[in-house]
Amino acid sequence: MLRIEDVEKITKHVVYCGGQKVFFFDKNMKEEIIRAKDYIRSNMKKATKHLFSHRVNFMENHDGFAIIFRSLSWRKTEIWMPCLAFYYHNDWFVVSIQNVYCKECGWKGQIACPTVEDAVIGLKNEKERMNELYRLPFLGCPECGGKLSSNAIWIDTED
Ligand SMILES: [Zn+2]
Repeated sequence: MLRIEDVEKITKHVVYCGGQKVFFFDKNMKEEIIRAKDYIRSNMKKATKHLFSHRVNFMENHDGFAIIFRSLSWRKTEIWMPCLAFYYHNDWFVVSIQNVYCKECGWKGQIACPTVEDAVIGLKNEKERMNELYRLPFLGCPECGGKLSSNAIWIDTED
């Protein structure tokens, strides 16, 4: 978790994610990526370091993803959480990468799921936002169109 001073050392770019103002960088922002990696190396504890670097690497290797920093209050302090986000239907969504299967044909693969706690935690309208996320048009299996075992707004079809 970062403080605003730390976030601003990495990126000053702002976008909106479900109406919330978030700081942002994507794989075209080479300087921000370098600053993020430097920050991770020199300031972060092991567990956070691993999680954040994993998200940055994933973003660099897949189109349409970004790292966003969402603010939330914790014990009266505002902290900023680095999240992986994906652009879908004209908005940014916080996602988690999950391994899923198709309930119809058994296809297995990786997807980005937007109905996750990280997407709503700390929001004033936590429940409403989660309900909104559940109303997104989710993708079906890339093989048969069947229902996947989790909610997908991106499917890894590279291999
Ligand atoms: Zn299928």
